[in-house]
Amino acid sequence: MFVSPCLDVNDQGHLTIGGCDTVELAQQFGTPLYVMDESEIRRACASYRESIERYYDGKGLVAYASKAFSCKAICRVILEEGLGLDVVSGGELYTALSAGFPPEKLFFHGNNKTPQELREALECGVGYIVVDNVFELELLGELASSQGKTANILLRIKPGVDAHTHQFIRTGQIDSKFGFALETGEAMAAVERALSLTGIHLKGLHCHIGSQIFDREPFEAAAEIMIGFLADIHDRWGRELEVLNLGGGFGIKYLSDHNPIPYDKYMEGISRVVKQACAQRGIATPLIVMEPGRSIVGAAGITLYTVGGVKEIPGIRTYVSVDGGMTDNPRYILYQSEYEALIANRADQPKDTVVTVAGRCCESGDLIGEGMPLQRTQPGDLMAVLSTGAYNYSMASNYNRVPRPAVVLVWNGTPRLVIRRECYEDLVRNDL
Ligand SMILES: *Cc1c(COP(=O)(O)O)cnc(C)c1O
Repeated sequence: MFVSPCLDVNDQGHLTIGGCDTVELAQQFGTPLYVMDESEIRRACASYRESIERYYDGKGLVAYASKAFSCKAICRVILEEGLGLDVVSGGELYTALSAGFPPEKLFFHGNNKTPQELREALECGVGYIVVDNVFELELLGELASSQGKTANILLRIKPGVDAHTHQFIRTGQIDSKFGFALETGEAMAAVERALSLTGIHLKGLHCHIGSQIFDREPFEAAAEIMIGFLADIHDRWGRELEVLNLGGGFGIKYLSDHNPIPYDKYMEGISRVVKQACAQRGIATPLIVMEPGRSIVGAAGITLYTVGGVKEIPGIRTYVSVDGGMTDNPRYILYQSEYEALIANRADQPKDTVVTVAGRCCESGDLIGEGMPLQRTQPGDLMAVLSTGAYNYSMASNYNRVPRPAVVLVWNGTPRLVIRRECYEDLVRNDL
């Protein structure tokens, strides 16, 4: 019935998540409120982890892309699940380390890491730094040498695979700010430079072909291209690189008619392609890293809002305003991303209207969605927007000086506050 199996409706007609009544959660913690089901997150982790066991003899690692949702509690859950972690900034690195995440299981991404961030990564001993460009490669070589260290790196490659997603979140082609292009010879030149630098240990390659991808084919195509490049490197320099990181981007269910394939199926296809291509080219199979972000946390999360004014514009549309908006979910204004919503205190009733859900910011584009089926609603109702676990809290802002909402993890009917709601004092904390 719902986009996620962690959602249900109880006898009172209230939406539940992870066995918790959303009406009670809203009373206890206030709105807007992010709620995430921990068991759903752990199920997704297990699905990826077990797929590597099943299809690739365990010769791999799943690293959660923490930019999807980063806080200390999620880092601890990910660690308990035996996964590694991606960070893309000093802030995400700091968060992971504060949670006690072992640095050797971290991958540091980003197309413009600052010298300071690179120094921090070297000092704490981050497992892999994923190098994006020649400037960064040489800078890292110098910084590592000056600290008497060697940085383990992967090179970020653009395999040129078009993953048919929204243009803004497509990162695989040549025209991308991320990584080295294969076709132009840029990638091979970077390999040569990396092999020649002191302070640099080239461990492998990385690619990331896009996001919210529903097909297996683009991942398999990318895997084949990347194995080809690993073999080219072997032929040319006599070096077999051990690690192939194939990135994330696995699609999730935002709408009822979305049909993501089960997460464990990706590895089935990738493993077949990798084993075949390696045998053909006569190289050893590399360690495979997968980096799901959205598909670990996205469908596990919902956002609860209190409905305010309902504005019917005859013959045009009905605006239902909520006490949040682009400040807690900027994905509609950024990408016109679609969500499903429902009235959580009457979740058993049919959706008999179609509305535009508007946020509270002074910005006409501040919408959660347009043309959204919804139960007839009135001020004071509780609205739930579904599949908001990824790229919502992590993209939240204080626009209009709106304090960021709290985040609650639920587990078998028990809620646990993991991020406090911001207060006005937080908003002026750094003002001088
Ligand atoms: C964003 C990102 C991911 C995760 O992407 P999802 O679509 O959330 O799975 C993985 N790897 C890299 C390098 C990324 O930038």
